[in-house]
Amino acid sequence: MRQDGGGGGGGGGSQWEGGSRQALQSRGKATLKEVSVSRIYSLFRGYRLQLSVIIGLALLAAIIGLGPPLIMKEIIDTGIPQQDKRLLMEMVGLMVLLPVFSGLLGVWQNHQNTKVGQGVMRDLRRSLFANLQRQSMSFFTDAKSGEIIQRLTGDVLAVQNVVTTIVVSAITQSVIVLTTVTILFVLDWRLAILALIILPLFIWPVRKVSQIRKQLRRETQGVRGEMSAQLGEIFGVSGALLTRIFQQEHKQEQDFDKLNQRVMDLELRLNLVGRWYGMVLGILAPLGTALIYWYGGWNVVEGTMTIGSIIAFAAYLGRLYGPVGTLLNLQVEVQTALGVFQRIFEYEDMISDVVDLENAKVLPSVQGQVVFQQVSYAYQTGQYALKEVSFSARPGEVVAIVGPSGAGKSTLIGMLARLYDPTSGAVMIDGYNAKEVTMASLRDQMAYVTQESFLFHASVRDNLLFARLDATDGDLEEACRQAYIHDTIAAMPDGYRTMVGERGHRLSGGERQRLAIARAILKNPRILVLDEATSHLDSESEAYVQAALDQLMLGRTTLVIAHRLSTILAADRIIVLEGGRVVESGRHAELLQQDGLYARLYRTQFKKALLV
Ligand code: ATP
Repeated sequence: MRQDGGGGGGGGGSQWEGGSRQALQSRGKATLKEVSVSRIYSLFRGYRLQLSVIIGLALLAAIIGLGPPLIMKEIIDTGIPQQDKRLLMEMVGLMVLLPVFSGLLGVWQNHQNTKVGQGVMRDLRRSLFANLQRQSMSFFTDAKSGEIIQRLTGDVLAVQNVVTTIVVSAITQSVIVLTTVTILFVLDWRLAILALIILPLFIWPVRKVSQIRKQLRRETQGVRGEMSAQLGEIFGVSGALLTRIFQQEHKQEQDFDKLNQRVMDLELRLNLVGRWYGMVLGILAPLGTALIYWYGGWNVVEGTMTIGSIIAFAAYLGRLYGPVGTLLNLQVEVQTALGVFQRIFEYEDMISDVVDLENAKVLPSVQGQVVFQQVSYAYQTGQYALKEVSFSARPGEVVAIVGPSGAGKSTLIGMLARLYDPTSGAVMIDGYNAKEVTMASLRDQMAYVTQESFLFHASVRDNLLFARLDATDGDLEEACRQAYIHDTIAAMPDGYRTMVGERGHRLSGGERQRLAIARAILKNPRILVLDEATSHLDSESEAYVQAALDQLMLGRTTLVIAHRLSTILAADRIIVLEGGRVVESGRHAELLQQDGLYARLYRTQFKKALLV
């Protein structure tokens, strides 16, 4: 497989671009879909009970919040003029008590809010993760790992604020606005209308600002994604190595600076737009208060209104304009976040191009017969990487795949575990069409040993357990003995608990390969897929790897992209691929006699690589 992880050289540009186009086709709809606010609200579907509690608490808090201006009115209009000291004391006492109640309610409500908000965040991360796990290999050969990580962490974090505050704010502020408007009308309907008259003026700036901020936020997250992708490549072990060897540190610093600067510029613009909006709100709210004092003051002078009423009214205005501003601001925040949600939902909606059929069967334990029937595959429409490939392997047989670079060898072996599904034709395992059985039951019965021998940054033990979680220490040791790696591991300071380093770079190439072989032995599959490493090891290491491979292949059906002469000579059948087609097939001696492509490859490659 070609997954150099950015830096190993190898993979040509066209291959990646092609993958990108194909992957986009398979998830084209999700890419273009506009996100609606209702989709964001639907994230809260599982939290109805907690939301009802929040609404109840918000109502209580809002009702308590109505108290202080009424208390003021009582003090000014009744207590002081009538010199009623008892009423005065009662009102003052209430003034002190009410904030205690609302404070306690606030703590409870805040806890509920956070629980709901963080719950939604967890669900979002979980569903993104799960959907990424469902994607086929063509997605991963196309996407940059840094970009994936950015969406799962950075983008999700970018909407955290909206998610954790949106529902609560929407509820509490709406309740406050409703209760306040009601009491305004109860107090004086003319003043109430006057107070409401300026509200439509708030709308236009909100619309404008939302549009601009949404666009800017999407752009910012896009650039951040690029940055993560770039960092992932540059600071991955292979990338870091390549950078140092070709001395591209300075160029990379310049590239990074460009992105870094763009993030800064976009964030500045985002902030500035927000400030302008804040300023407009700041001007409009005092306008309403001025109107009340003008009209109310007039009435007080005329003697048709009490001073207490107008003071209470003005105090309520704060409870009206503030929450209206917050609600509208919320609208801006949501609209701004829509751009990021779009990126998140795009990943959530992606449909894999390799999926289990609805009525997929479970593949029973197989003998290991493999038949390729006229298998064709195109990464891009019309451009076939494999064309009508047919061959078969009986249980326990070894089939070697050879051919020049780009002939389709990796694509072919990828078909077996359904990393890709044939565009036409079928891969049959013991008479079952691979496409019609569940991927889990299919993959259970095969193991892959790839060229790269990828290891996770974990202990040797954990890397081995990846093949079979329930393996005992005894199983691990046995597998490692068969792979000729046990003694090496045992000699390490922490034995099986030794950490292998990023991608296993603390181990030598040969050790990594043997560990990967041990992993495959542990899985004990009926079918084995091998992509022999092309990198040449020293002869001692090579001999160990070869011995380990021989152990692994023993009695299993094996499909191997062969680079070693010993493998080819031992193969029951050699399939020679060129341009995606099988051009020759047979055993070594027969193919040599034909004096075709195989004979040429033998003379130019295999004979030279006499690494038996
Ligand atoms: P090598 O020996 O160099 O690894 P190969 O024989 O394994 O080559 P494949 O990797 O199967 O060849 O590639 C077969 C063809 O398909 C090539 O033309 C390649 O460019 C193309 N190809 C491979 N992977 C992709 C991809 N993800 N997207 C588009 N085209 C691809």
